[in-house]
Amino acid sequence: MTRRRYLVTGGAGFVGSHVALALAERDCDVVVIDNLRQGHREAILPGTKLIEADIADIAAVDAILADGPWHAVLHFAALSLVGESMREPMRYLTANASAGIALIDACVRHGVPRFVLSSTAALFGMPNRIPIAENDPVRPGSPYGESKWMIERALFWADRIHGLRSACLRYFNAAGADPEGRLGEDHHPETHLIPLAIDAALGRSGGLSVFGNDYDTPDGTCIRDYIHVFDLAQAHLLALDQLDHRSVTYNLGNSSGHSVLDVIRTVAEISGRPVPHEIVARRPGDPPVLIASAALIHAETGWNPRFGQLDDMVRTAFAWRDAHPNGFIS
Ligand code: UDP
Repeated sequence: MTRRRYLVTGGAGFVGSHVALALAERDCDVVVIDNLRQGHREAILPGTKLIEADIADIAAVDAILADGPWHAVLHFAALSLVGESMREPMRYLTANASAGIALIDACVRHGVPRFVLSSTAALFGMPNRIPIAENDPVRPGSPYGESKWMIERALFWADRIHGLRSACLRYFNAAGADPEGRLGEDHHPETHLIPLAIDAALGRSGGLSVFGNDYDTPDGTCIRDYIHVFDLAQAHLLALDQLDHRSVTYNLGNSSGHSVLDVIRTVAEISGRPVPHEIVARRPGDPPVLIASAALIHAETGWNPRFGQLDDMVRTAFAWRDAHPNGFIS
């Protein structure tokens, strides 16, 4: 049997690199296209080919896709900061939605049969029930969430009209790092809670700002559903198998929530150091509670998180960050 070939856009970024690694470990050929603006050359592990290009460069994408056959395209390349998208909506809609739709069009033209989208819980805005199921109302609260929804809709029509099967995977809060320490989370600037709490514990920052403690939650801080990037990657492999039969949409979380103070406590326990922090104003647009119902992917694919505890995520994230004070370059 010939080896399956996959094109991974944004495969030098946090989730994309972990998925590229999981595919490579399944003995597949993996080609990454990444403009390296947020991704890291060092996140491309041996055996995986990197093409340094922007997905908005249609000529480059066409040339890559013409060199098929491809088993699937997995699309991670995107701008991903909700707050930034509220200041620069058209940049987000162009970079994410326009470029994503052009990529889907290119896949259709080149006969790519399967497409996996890195989507987001930000589709749901301020949900009116928890846990959130796949068919709950979609009401993006930001241009970032809207841009992913526009790509999901384009995929719906690409399947219906052209037969391009797709998996829309809506991540809740991706966290952790490769359990073997080969990859980790390295954003510039870093805005996510777990790495910032770790930096505070390691004395690498002036302390963590907790965005509000007056929410309607047990300890007053926001609750999120954290999911280990290893488990996310496994979910991509299982979703790909579903595409042999039909398109799917899955919410991806652990179906359980942790508050900001829970995270601070866990980082303190695992690092053995206090996490200096202060309570500051709420961050605009933060929903008080986001928890996924992961029942559907569990029932349809047998997906079972291996690192489902917050401890697992903090331990692997801490190990990588502690060992890489300057991210991938150290
Ligand atoms: N958060 C915080 N301080 C920070 C970063 C995040 O209190 O410096 C909170 C944020 O308000 C949210 C949770 O931590 O309730 C997770 O935020 P993150 O940015 O990691 O992910 P999001 O849920 O926004 O995708």
